[in-house]
Amino acid sequence: MLINQLLDLKGSIRVICRIRPLMSSDALTAATSSSSILEIPTPDTLILAPDRTERTLYDFDRVIGPSEGQEEVFNEARSLVDSVVEGYNVCMLFFGPTGSGKTYTMSGRPGDLGMAANALSHLFRVAKEVDSKQQVRLSASMLEIYNEQINDLLLAQNQQAPKLDIKESSAGVEVPGLTIKPMAGMQEAEAIMQRGKAARASSGPEGATRSHLVLTIYVTCTHRSTEASSTGKLHLVDLAGSERIAKGAASAERTKEAQAIHKSLTALGDVMQALQQKSSHVPFRNSKLTRLLEDSVGFNSRTMVVLTCSPAAEDAAETRSTLEFGLKAR
Ligand code: ADP
Ligand code: MG
Repeated sequence: MLINQLLDLKGSIRVICRIRPLMSSDALTAATSSSSILEIPTPDTLILAPDRTERTLYDFDRVIGPSEGQEEVFNEARSLVDSVVEGYNVCMLFFGPTGSGKTYTMSGRPGDLGMAANALSHLFRVAKEVDSKQQVRLSASMLEIYNEQINDLLLAQNQQAPKLDIKESSAGVEVPGLTIKPMAGMQEAEAIMQRGKAARASSGPEGATRSHLVLTIYVTCTHRSTEASSTGKLHLVDLAGSERIAKGAASAERTKEAQAIHKSLTALGDVMQALQQKSSHVPFRNSKLTRLLEDSVGFNSRTMVVLTCSPAAEDAAETRSTLEFGLKAR
């Protein structure tokens, strides 16, 4: 058991896949029948069958089907969330093209809590139950990375936005000047997430899908008598849409955004692959995203990739590339 736990901490990456239901917005023409191109023969395998001739089998740690709910997704992450209380840094990455369910899975919708809220309420519960010698405090920051620039999403109104950068030290990765808000309970946490979401949406109705959103929950445990404390970080990352933008079809602005997204998702894939291969060199330095996550993926931290996929025939190419990204990490 102990050996397994130790191995588990050494850069092992959990990869799960969530398939959203077919929706009325998915094209339903004669050529693309209304049935799903994805089959789930067992709880940890997935078959991509876009036509009669091709069937590709994928192996993941878990495949969550279209009829399974948010609670099932959280169950796959529960032990990772618990390890944040023990002082570990944990990273959950939500990867997939626009429309595949990243935001739904991470942030949920009213009355249907997503991973972030489920993790927070779990942490508040654990904080109350922890033994009386310790005190557990939670706080949060929220930022977006847009065109390789970091924006604080929790700035006070009228507050001048400082230029933010990433600082690495022996203590870990920091973003000096980033707003970190203490949270006493779920109500405060929900308000903070709403505020961050609103700050992000102001960059345009579609803006949210072209930047990476990073919600970080800090869990600080303080020993009441010695005052010794440790902090674990939980990053939840709603990645920019992984779809490729058609060349020539986009404006200069869109092309620049698409290049920044492609560069950072490629850097992320390279980091995942290097960690998975236990390579001695992990190329963290190629993007802001990977620099920010450096102390929360790989050695002594725990990572989960949640691939989100559409089962619609017209999305076959994007679904395939999403599943291929997952294989790099596993
Ligand atoms: P993304 O963030 O990847 O662009 P969204 O999370 O916005 O995608 O999902 C696109 C649409 O599909 C939304 O209307 C969302 O509510 C819905 N959706 C996504 N996943 C699910 C699911 N597992 N169950 C039900 N509806 C879902
Ligand atoms: Mg989204």
